Amino acid sequence: MSALQEKTALVIGAGNLGGPAALTLASAGVARIVLVDAGNVETPDLGEPGGATAARRLSRLFPELEVEVFARGFDVGSAGELVRSADVVVDASSHFPTMFLANDAAVAAGKALAHGGLLNFTVQLLTVVPGVTGCLRCLFEGPPPPGPEAGALGPLAGFAGAFLGAEAVRLLEGRPGAYAGRLLVHEARSGRSRSVRVKPRPGCAACSAVAGGAS
Ligand SMILES: [Zn+2]
Repeated sequence: MSALQEKTALVIGAGNLGGPAALTLASAGVARIVLVDAGNVETPDLGEPGGATAARRLSRLFPELEVEVFARGFDVGSAGELVRSADVVVDASSHFPTMFLANDAAVAAGKALAHGGLLNFTVQLLTVVPGVTGCLRCLFEGPPPPGPEAGALGPLAGFAGAFLGAEAVRLLEGRPGAYAGRLLVHEARSGRSRSVRVKPRPGCAACSAVAGGAS
């Protein structure tokens, strides 16, 4: 029996990045997926929330899979409980406030977070292992000032979402994440990738809240 058969993945954002991530998790055999409609979820068809569409598609393809849609959204009121009930957190929101909220909730709960972001032609992937690696807030202190959060190219989102899902599968299987403590940035137009080490930063608001809690 695969270890995945008892695991729950929380997928934040059920749009063009979260959809393929959830599909990858489902095809690997994860038991349960909780899909959260987050921030700026687009409604690709039928004008209904992305989570409902994605859940229906997943249930049709994987009848054994338990899929839940949390339609109330990922916010300060819901983040803690949603994160604590999962074995891995997948942030596919591509929405700055949601990214940082997911980061903070995962670090506080000690849950591994696979983060994926997509802006225009740039994909970024980072895995946060609380207590081991740095986090999103160690790297960027907070969300950038509000500005356009441009949509992304469909095929690029499919590729990035699949990579994100595969990373979450590795984490659920207890293997080290490929992007643990390493921000991978891939620029699709040039085909170039670079990676930046993400070490715990002294004074990081998310990490020191946890470390400081013990003292
Ligand atoms: Zn941090």
